[in-house]
Order: sequence, then structure tokens, then C-alpha cells
Amino acid sequence: MGKKHEKTKKILKIIGPIIALCGLGLAIMGFADMIISTRKGEMPSLFWGLIAGLPLIAIGAMISLTGFRREIIRYTKNESVPVVNEAGEEIAPAVSAIASAAKGAERNICPDCGKPNEEGAKFCRHCGKPLYITCPVCGEQVRAGAYCDKCGAKLD
Ligand SMILES: [Zn+2]
Ligand SMILES: [Zn+2]
Repeated sequence: MGKKHEKTKKILKIIGPIIALCGLGLAIMGFADMIISTRKGEMPSLFWGLIAGLPLIAIGAMISLTGFRREIIRYTKNESVPVVNEAGEEIAPAVSAIASAAKGAERNICPDCGKPNEEGAKFCRHCGKPLYITCPVCGEQVRAGAYCDKCGAKLD
């Protein structure tokens, strides 16, 4: 998730509720004016507030939903609420990331004892041997093994 994206979401989280609240204010004003004017038998003069307010509430709610989508997804993840397609698109990369992390955990096999370790583990939890070493040729941190998986140099 990029920083710019985060910033956009932050702005959406602020702007969305503000627009929705403005819309709500206008709608209440228009609605109250309509009731008061109807009782007095006059034409409501602030009826436009209701007309302008309702779409603003909808737009504000939509912007808020976009901004808070991640929080909403997190919240609804454990519920059996059917997730809309758009949200599904955002979940998909996370799911594949978890899936590949799970695969990585399977792959993080100790070169010395052959037992699996957590992904990102630096040392084998079964025998204590290092799982990663610094390649003497390219200088990258690579998985311990017969060859460097970054440059192909033979490791000893
Ligand atoms: Zn080991
Ligand atoms: Zn290398």
C-alpha cells in the first residue's frame, strides 16, 4: 500500500463524513422547513435543502465507504455478510499474499536438517543452523544452500 494511497484514503475519511454531514444538515433544514411551511399553508422556501441534501448524504456515504473500506472489510471479515465485488478485488491480493506466505513457510526448509521453519526465520528452530547467509559473490542475503539463488554462485 503506497503512501500516496494512504493519504488519499485519509482525505476521503475526512471529506466523506463532512459531505454526508453537510447533506444531512441541508436535508434536515429542508425537511423542517417543509413541515413548518406546510403547517402554515405556505410554499416551503428551503425545500431545495432536501433535494440537495439527500444526494450529498449518498455521495458523502460513498466517499466514506471508499475511505473506510479496509476497516469495513476487516470488520465484516468474520461476519457472513456477502462482500461486494469491489471489496473482493481488494481482498484478493491479501489472500494470495497469505497463500504465498503459507507456501513460503513450507518452503523455508532448513538446508541442514530438512525441517520446515516460519517464513522470515533467520535460524532453524530445530537445529539452530542459519537459514540465510550473505552470498560472498553478490553480497545479498540469500537462503543457505548449495547455490546462491540471487546470482547462482556456488556457496560452501
Ligand atoms: Zn535445521
Ligand atoms: Zn549471490
